[in-house]
Order: sequence, then structure tokens, then C-alpha cells
Amino acid sequence: MTFSDRKIIDGHIHYAHTAYEADLMSILASAGIDKLAVVCTPDQQRLSLVPDALHLKGKHPQKVYVFGGLDISPLFITPKESGEAFAHYVDVLRGMGVDGVKMIEGKAEMRKRLPIPNFDDPVYAPYWEKMAETHIPLIFHVNDPEEFWDAETVPDWAREMGWFYGDGSYIDNEDQYRQVLNVLDRYPGLTVIFAHFFFLSAQLDRLAGYLDRYPNMHVDLTPGIEMYCNFSKDVDLAREFFMEYQDRIIYGTDIGARALLRDREAGIEEEESLARIEVVRGFLENDGPFTLTHSGFLFGGPEAVFHGIDLPDDVLNKIYHQNFTRLVGATPKPLSPAAIIEECQRLEIMIHTMAATRPDMPGDTSSATMVRDYFTI
Ligand SMILES: [Zn+2]
Repeated sequence: MTFSDRKIIDGHIHYAHTAYEADLMSILASAGIDKLAVVCTPDQQRLSLVPDALHLKGKHPQKVYVFGGLDISPLFITPKESGEAFAHYVDVLRGMGVDGVKMIEGKAEMRKRLPIPNFDDPVYAPYWEKMAETHIPLIFHVNDPEEFWDAETVPDWAREMGWFYGDGSYIDNEDQYRQVLNVLDRYPGLTVIFAHFFFLSAQLDRLAGYLDRYPNMHVDLTPGIEMYCNFSKDVDLAREFFMEYQDRIIYGTDIGARALLRDREAGIEEEESLARIEVVRGFLENDGPFTLTHSGFLFGGPEAVFHGIDLPDDVLNKIYHQNFTRLVGATPKPLSPAAIIEECQRLEIMIHTMAATRPDMPGDTSSATMVRDYFTI
């Protein structure tokens, strides 16, 4: 499938290692993507992937936005003060020149792995206050497709990834929606983009109700292939939704997610990345049914048929770049090398400390050290 040239910002890309730079940038250039936002997640060996993302931004300062992940070490070391520590870390991230914050802590598997309090617990209050008062945008992964909680309907691939949550040992998805909506009720100034359509692609009426109630709430289009299956079931309804909420939807693909989650050796692969672009752009731009010409991680193969909604140009422009730049800025924020060096040094110490006390978090300071050296020169 070929697409016409458009100005596009990919608002949701993963970058698990500095070694992926050449592949990622060449894939995006050949696909005609102008700018990208790297979203950072906690890392078991390196604590944080923020240094890697800042390194990429340092090399491409006009093209790369960074959504920094929180340093999760306070959850282990000083859990009762973790909200205060996260609030302080927002200032650290802003001081280095990040453009937003990413939280994957609402993914059920992550909540089971980390000692995360309920999001509406008072311990988190200083953090939410800071996020709301600074208006720094948050990309927030909350839940997963609802079928992952249902033994009857969970897909085999999700079970294989360890994402079957119906055995009673994981957070309940409705409970988690309640916690997060409580936060939005308390902090209406919070600018939030819920990744993967807030996992409500099968419940568009419900999502519409939330978007009406919370004017600073947005959703991104990052697959979740189930989103595009759900949208395809009632194309008229999906199109109506996209027309109505055209100012609240952000383009994103999750390029790099496979390298992050499944296979770091393989790196960021072109074929899989192109499949991600194809399913999202095909859906937004095509008129009628289409199948994928590229094959992607978990994407259902060439037999899966999707339906496009043929959006008009002005709506595509909002979804592809204008909504993002309105929330995050027309250009990425400038970096502060001195603040980055200081934070990389602190991370090196934290990684050693965590490795000494937590055998499940083997310390790897290679990125923090390399990135500190890069900004020192
Ligand atoms: Zn992602």
C-alpha cells in the first residue's frame, strides 16, 4: 500500500537501546515521518531508558521529542514517599529537556511486577499535583484489551506473552479505570493522552462520555491490533467518532515495541515497522476494505481484513501532527547537557544500589555511562 506525502509526527515510539539509532531513523525517513516522540519505560537492567532517548534527541534535536519514564526506584526504597519522589522527578525530567512523561505503570503485568499503589492513593497526590500544575503532557498506558482478563476470549499470543490476567492475581481492569478517572476528577488540569485508545475501542460510547467529561483527555492510535478489528466491525460508527473527536486523537504506531518486549537482539525491524504504519494510515485514509502488505508482530497476517474510514484532509492533519504540536509544542524542547550528565551519574549510583539489594534487577550502567560521556564531550 502506498500513501501520499503528509506531515506526520509519530507520537509513540519505543527506543530500547542507543544501538537502534540508524535503523530507526532510516525506517522513519523512508516512510516519510517527520518527527517522533520516544516514550520511555522502566527497564529491569538499566532502571530507566531515559538516557537512551535523550541521546537520540541530542543527535536529532529538531526531530525527536522525549516522554521520560519515572525512576521507579522509590517504589522499592521509600514507597511511602514515592509520590513526593515522582513529583521531584518531574522537575528533573523537565530540567533535562524532556517534552512529556510516559507511564506504562497501568499495564496489568507491570502493576503485578512493581509495588505500585493505587493511582488514586493519597501517596501519589504530590505527583499528580505537579503534573497538573506544570501542564506537562502524560502518555499513560492504562489496562490492556478487556479480553486479556477473560479465559474464554484471551488470544493465544497474549497468553504466550504472559498477558492473561484472569487468574485473580492481577489488577482488575474496571478497578483500574475507576482509579484513573478519580485522578482526572481531582486534577482536571492534567493533560493526558491514553495510549491505545484507552482500550475502549469496543466501547466508543463510553469513551465519548469520558472525552466529553474531561476536556484535557486524549487518546492515541497506537495498535493494539484489536482496535483496528473493533473499528472495522462498524465503520460508520468509527468514522462518526473520529469526526466528532478529531481534536482529541493522536497518531502513533509503537514502532520499537517488539524490540523492547520480545527480541532486543533483532532490533527495530523495517517490515514490522511498516506494518504498523500501514494498519494505522490504511484505516484513517482508505475508503473500504484493505489487507496488510507488510507483516507485523501480532498483526493477524495477510488474511486479516480491515476497513478504512477515509477521513478528510483537515482531520488527517489534526491527527497526524496538529493535535500533537498543540499539546507538546511545535518543536522539541532544548536539552540541558549539564542536567543530563548529573542525572546519568545519579542513575549509575541507583543502578548499583538496586543491583545490590534486588537480585531480580541485575545492574547494567552501560547506557547511563555512555550517554553521560556523550553529553560531557
Ligand atoms: Zn508503547
